[in-house]
Amino acid sequence: MVVASIITPPHHFFIPNDNPLDPDFTHRDQECISLIKGCRNIDEFRQLHGHILKLGYFSNPRCVGSLVAECALSAWGSMEYAQSIFRQIDDPGSFEFNAMIRGYVKDMNSKRALATYLDMVKTGVAPDNYTYPVVLKACASGEGNTIHGQIVKLGFSEDVFVENSLIAAYGRCGRVGDSCAVFDRMDLRKTVASWSAVIAAHAGNGMWTECLDLFRQMSFETSSRAEESIVVNVLSACSHLGAVEWGRIAHAYVLRNLLGHNAAVETLLIYMYIRCGRLEKGMRLFREMGRRRNVETYSVAISGQASYGGGVEALETFDEMLRSGLEPDDVVYVGVLNGCSRAGLVDEGLRYFDRMRIEHGIEPTIQHYGCMVDLLGRAGRIREAFDLVETMPMKPNNVIWRSLLSSCKLHREVALGEVAARNLFRLNTKNASDYLMLASIYAQAERWMDVSKTRVKMASMRIGQVPGSSWVEVNKKVQRFVSNDMSHPQRHEIYETLHQMEWQLRFEGYRPDTSQVLLLVEEDEKKQRLRSHSQKLAIAFSLINTLQGSPIRIARNVRMCSDCHKYTKLISVIYEREIVVRDRNIFHHFRDGSCSCKDYW
Ligand code: ZN
Ligand code: ZN
Repeated sequence: MVVASIITPPHHFFIPNDNPLDPDFTHRDQECISLIKGCRNIDEFRQLHGHILKLGYFSNPRCVGSLVAECALSAWGSMEYAQSIFRQIDDPGSFEFNAMIRGYVKDMNSKRALATYLDMVKTGVAPDNYTYPVVLKACASGEGNTIHGQIVKLGFSEDVFVENSLIAAYGRCGRVGDSCAVFDRMDLRKTVASWSAVIAAHAGNGMWTECLDLFRQMSFETSSRAEESIVVNVLSACSHLGAVEWGRIAHAYVLRNLLGHNAAVETLLIYMYIRCGRLEKGMRLFREMGRRRNVETYSVAISGQASYGGGVEALETFDEMLRSGLEPDDVVYVGVLNGCSRAGLVDEGLRYFDRMRIEHGIEPTIQHYGCMVDLLGRAGRIREAFDLVETMPMKPNNVIWRSLLSSCKLHREVALGEVAARNLFRLNTKNASDYLMLASIYAQAERWMDVSKTRVKMASMRIGQVPGSSWVEVNKKVQRFVSNDMSHPQRHEIYETLHQMEWQLRFEGYRPDTSQVLLLVEEDEKKQRLRSHSQKLAIAFSLINTLQGSPIRIARNVRMCSDCHKYTKLISVIYEREIVVRDRNIFHHFRDGSCSCKDYW
């Protein structure tokens, strides 16, 4: 007997024609199920299945269910085979249907999962509270409604398990409003998992402010502890918004509630502090982690130091990583090369680029080439940067051309800038800031005709400018400002402060840098436009609403203009404030009239 030699079944299992009324029946069931569960691969399973068929045991419903589930859900399983067994069952029940649906979801075959679910409903088998969480996982935007309707009809709409899955499912489809509707209706049935699902739904859709609002609401409404997934999403929200006060609250949560050390959460905490303009705090946590640090932790620290212009420090951290015996990966090297680029360490950058390939056997990706193009370009070696682009093994993408364009702007290279721009526009990325960059290269050269041609082209292609905005967190509230913002309740105070600020700046010799305003308008109007750039509004707001001497932290969505840069440097000395500005992916740390980027960004 083949089967026996493989899995040595107990002898009484092989008695054919079992009588279901036999008191031994349950016991034999167990034997049968444990044999099925004992299969280690599809061949063993096939043989056992054949045997079960031969012995007529296939009519035993528990045995059949177990066959389907094992075949659909095991790591060695096969949905095709599971389907063939499933089709032979005369009237499959919810257990078998659920197993098939779960199997398809596991295989990421959401189409078949939903089709099986519909079959289930059509054949009159009632879905249970195990069905919906799985089906909803498979839901794309279209099917959500139908399934939600059926949930209500079948009376599962007040099943917490099902409701939590609905919240998550709607979130995955980008229908956050529907997630909230289900969540709000739950009332007292809400569990930590419900909060987790609704916070995740917002986080998954980039609604970071709402994430923090929900977290705040949760801490008011329940005494239950936040689980890890909530903390992770809240930390991501803080990192995106630069909301360090909330970050600190989340940190306290981690210390109180997540027992033991968790390198992933600790790394995320470090990332949060760094992204919120607290490099030192982040690095302190990094040092405290000691031997728990992994490649990812080092990666976060290195790229963090790099983004603050600390190239030398980033290289030191990298050396420390190598000494600790960890093997760098390609992501770590992106941080290293970025560090060299931002700090103007050209020779070091070239050396590390070689070391990456030769010593660590990492083939450079387009990202690494991007770093090198940036490194050479920033340092004014623009020709070499162009040569590298021509000889690299892959097609240059928009990031590379944009980096070249930006170097040309930095070094006032009109002709090469035009080449970079032409290649960039050919990729049809329709990015307003690319056109503005070219226009500003022309503006620097006072080629006003070309400035307006570029503008007209932009308008004819219907490329809208992303409105520049800046945000600050004051008293645990994130305030966002756009340029010329008149919507804030404190607008009168803000504009009054702005006026005073400019008055004092003039004594320090500040003159607005109107070359940044690309429109052909009167000099006075240009000054007016510069005056109310969002970053300046955010600084004025912070000066009004924070204690004297306390640091100001601002995040912004588009690159800082050089007038705002000059302005902020002076404010830092006149008002004796440290000002940290996150400018997309780099940090400007203004102190005593100078900036950590050394005017190189
Ligand atoms: Zn500005
Ligand atoms: Zn700077």
